[in-house]
Amino acid sequence: MTKQIQFFDTTLRDGEQTIGVNFSIQDKLILAQKIADWGADVIEAGFPVASENDFKAVRQIGKNVTNCNVIGLARCVKKDIDAVTQALADAPTGQIHVFIATSPIHREAKLHMDQAAVIKKINECVSYAHKSFEHVEFSPEDATRTEWNFLVTAIRTAINAGADVINIPDTTGYTNPDEFGALFDYLKENIPEFDRVTFSVHCHNDLGMATANALAAVKHGASRIEGTINGIGERAGNTALEEVAAAMDVRKDFYQVENQVDLTKTYELAKLVSEKSKMPIPHNKPIIGANVFAHESGIHQDGFLKNHATYEILTPQSVGIAHSSIPLGKLSGSHAVAAKLKQLGYQITSADMHKIFPIFKQVADQQAIVSAEDLRQIMQRFEKTVQKS
Ligand SMILES: [Zn+2]
Repeated sequence: MTKQIQFFDTTLRDGEQTIGVNFSIQDKLILAQKIADWGADVIEAGFPVASENDFKAVRQIGKNVTNCNVIGLARCVKKDIDAVTQALADAPTGQIHVFIATSPIHREAKLHMDQAAVIKKINECVSYAHKSFEHVEFSPEDATRTEWNFLVTAIRTAINAGADVINIPDTTGYTNPDEFGALFDYLKENIPEFDRVTFSVHCHNDLGMATANALAAVKHGASRIEGTINGIGERAGNTALEEVAAAMDVRKDFYQVENQVDLTKTYELAKLVSEKSKMPIPHNKPIIGANVFAHESGIHQDGFLKNHATYEILTPQSVGIAHSSIPLGKLSGSHAVAAKLKQLGYQITSADMHKIFPIFKQVADQQAIVSAEDLRQIMQRFEKTVQKS
């Protein structure tokens, strides 16, 4: 059987930690349902102890969104765990995610705890969370800057205390695909319980490698990927889940894994997240940006018109975008211009095109994009020259 990869969406928790983003409870409910319908296996609905609104949002999502697991976040602190327990008391699929930092910089500068104290805390908080929840996910925060042997001790402590999902966060976007893969190989070798639990990854994009790191981890034994829609999140953001889903689809041959995402719902969901987060989608954003299925230069347009696969590795329809576009500009060739004129209803011979194209070039040199209206004016100029001659 092909390995299944779970998608863990934290748009509503880590995504909301983006500067300037604040979803209303109503928006969170709408987004959670759309994310579940897209195919996420788990939604991290919030951090209930953080605020009254976070608590209410987690509670409502837990009650109402039933076609995926709903998880609440807690530090290794009793009152945080109690808040998740209360918020998800009526949730049919409620789960808990507890975390504590394990790296030397976090232990010394933030927690003021030594290794032994951190291990004691992990044991206490995972056991306590497991009293209320069958499924407990544990994260050693800043795992990628933690001593590897201590990371093994921390993870084994969590598993023995009842955690059935171990998430490896690259909290600061510090690692790279080779190193992350090697870390997973090390964990597999040194944790006898590795196959008994689900290994997850949570990557940040500080060096632009969040998606690549997450996919490298899958190649080395992870079976859950955490991330957000449009890659929103702290600082440079999280792994963009739509990128992971598209990569697994386009490169099925390489990854050889499956997931339950309905890729055709991607664009609609990305637009909704963009609208609710008030963060426009950059034009060059992979998978969903406005330029991703647009071809302007002559060589590309020519190839694309002959066979779309020359310059597109995935179809716009596969991610829910209606069609590709071939915007006309100064680099466009006569094939693309002729194709567009035909679309507008003009009957053009190749002799005509020899006269039309220089006029097009003159216009295109003056402006970034030549619109349909510009083309009509170009045709009027062309028809005048024909009448004169
Ligand atoms: Zn994060």
